[in-house]
Amino acid sequence: MTRFTDLDLIEPIQRALKEQGYTEPTQIQALSIPALLDGRDVMGCAQTGTGKTAAFLLPVLQYLFEERPPRGKRPIRALVLTPTRELAAQIGACATAYGRHLNLKHAVIFGGTGEGKQISALRSGLDLLVATPGRLLDLMGRGFVDLKHVEFFVLDEADRMLDMGFIHDVRRVVERLPEDRQNLLFSATLESKVRQLASSFLYKPLSVDVTPAVTSVEAIEQTVMMVEKSDKRTLLVQLLRKEEIGSAIVFTRTKHGANRLAKQLTNSGIEAGAIHGNKSQGARTRTLNSFRQGELRVLVATDLASRGIDVEDVTHVFNYELPNEPASYVHRIGRTGRAGRSGRAISFCDAEERGYLRDIEREIGQRVPVDSEHEFHSTAAPAAPPVRGRGQGGGGRGRSSQGGGRRGGGGGGRGRGGEGNRDRRRAGGGGGRGGGGGSRNEKPAARGQGGGGGQGGRSQGGGRSKSKTSGATPSFGGSRRSGR
Ligand code: AMP
Repeated sequence: MTRFTDLDLIEPIQRALKEQGYTEPTQIQALSIPALLDGRDVMGCAQTGTGKTAAFLLPVLQYLFEERPPRGKRPIRALVLTPTRELAAQIGACATAYGRHLNLKHAVIFGGTGEGKQISALRSGLDLLVATPGRLLDLMGRGFVDLKHVEFFVLDEADRMLDMGFIHDVRRVVERLPEDRQNLLFSATLESKVRQLASSFLYKPLSVDVTPAVTSVEAIEQTVMMVEKSDKRTLLVQLLRKEEIGSAIVFTRTKHGANRLAKQLTNSGIEAGAIHGNKSQGARTRTLNSFRQGELRVLVATDLASRGIDVEDVTHVFNYELPNEPASYVHRIGRTGRAGRSGRAISFCDAEERGYLRDIEREIGQRVPVDSEHEFHSTAAPAAPPVRGRGQGGGGRGRSSQGGGRRGGGGGGRGRGGEGNRDRRRAGGGGGRGGGGGSRNEKPAARGQGGGGGQGGRSQGGGRSKSKTSGATPSFGGSRRSGR
C-alpha cells in the first residue's frame, strides 16, 4: 500500500495532509501524483468521492511552490476549470487546506454571485485560479483575467462540462492558454466525446481509470422497489418517517420535479429543501449548509446539482426517478457510503423505467435486489431479464493492468530520466534517478508504473477493470501542440 510519504511530495504539503487526517493516498492519487510530478499530462477517469481533487491539486500546488513566481504582481500560473459553483468552491477550500503552509494565492470565481471580490482578487495577483467557464469568459472578455502565464491547466468533470453545453466555452478558454503547459483532464466517464475533447489538448497523457462502479458501489447496500409512478410519493413519505433514516438525498430527474417534491415532503411534515441549477448560488449554499448541519433531513436534488454535494453522513440515497444515464446512478448513490461509512441506496422503478434499470445493472455489473416488502409493490410490468454485467463472467473483475499492454511491458524502474513536459520546459529533461525503460522509443516520462510505454493495458479476465493506467492513449493523435 502506497503511503503519502512514498510520494515525492514536499514537507509543507505532507504536513498539511497530516493535519487533514490523510495517511494513505486514494487510488487515483497514488496513480496520478507521481506522473503529474514528473510533468506528464494525465487523463483521469474518476468521480467526486475518489479523492480526485487532491490528485490534481497537490502536484499543482507543489509546482507553484517550487517554481516561485517572479517578483511583483503574481501571474496566474495554474487554472482549474470546473462546471459548477459548488465544485469550484470545494476545490477552492481544498486548495486552502492543502496549501496552508505554502503561502500561495488562489481565488475562486463563478457566476450567480457578486463579482466585486473576484475582480479585486484577480487584480491583486494569483498563483492559482479556480473558475467556472461562464464567469471566467465574462471576466476575460473585460480584461480582468490574463492567462498568458498558465503552465498548468486542469479540466475537471469534463463529461459534465459537455453535458452542460460548455464545450465551446471550454474551447475558447483553451485557445487563450499558452501552448507550453501541463494538462489534466478528469471525467467520471470516458465516452467518445470526452476522448475527443481530451485529444484536442492533452499531450500523450497517462490514462488513469479508477472505476467508480467498483469503488463506490461495494460499500452501499442497494435495493430497488417496483412501484407505480402515482404511489412513489406516499412510499417515500412512509420510508422517510422511519427512524433509522438519518439524512437522505432524494434524486429527481427535473428541477421542477425537485421543487414540487420538496414542497410536498415539507407539507407532509418532513423538512426538505431542493437544490438544482435554477436556484441562485446563495439559495443553494444555504440549503446545502442546512442539510450539512442536520437542520434539513432531506435534500431533493437533480443530477447537475449533485456533483458538488460532499456531505459525509448521508445515510440514504433515494432514486425517486431513475436516471437515464447509468453513470449518474453510480454518482448519485456515491453520495452515501462516504468516508468509509456504509450507506443505503433505494431506487424506485416504475413500469416505464425498467429499461433504465437494465442499463444501470449492466453498468454496475450486478443485479440490484428487488425489495418487495412494501405495500406498493407493483407487478405491473414484467421484471427485467437477467443481465450479464461487465464485471461478471469471463473470470470476474479485472484488476489493475498497470501499463502492461500489448506493446508495453519493458523497463519500469523508478527512473525519472524521462522527458516530462515540464522537465523539458524547465531543464531539458534528463538527470534522473535510474533508468526507466520502455519497449518503444517513446521516452517514458512517468516513473515506471511497470512499463512506461505500454499502450492501453487491458484488464485481466475480461471484467471491468478496477483501476488501470496506460501509457499513451492510442486515439490521441490530435494534439494541437506543435514541436512535441
Ligand atoms: P474528492 O473526490 O476530491 O471530492 O474527495 C472526496 C473526499 O475525500 C473529500 O472529503 C476529501 O477531503 C477526502 N479525501 C481526499 N483524499 C483523501 C485521502 N487520501 N485520505 C482521506 N480522505 C481523503
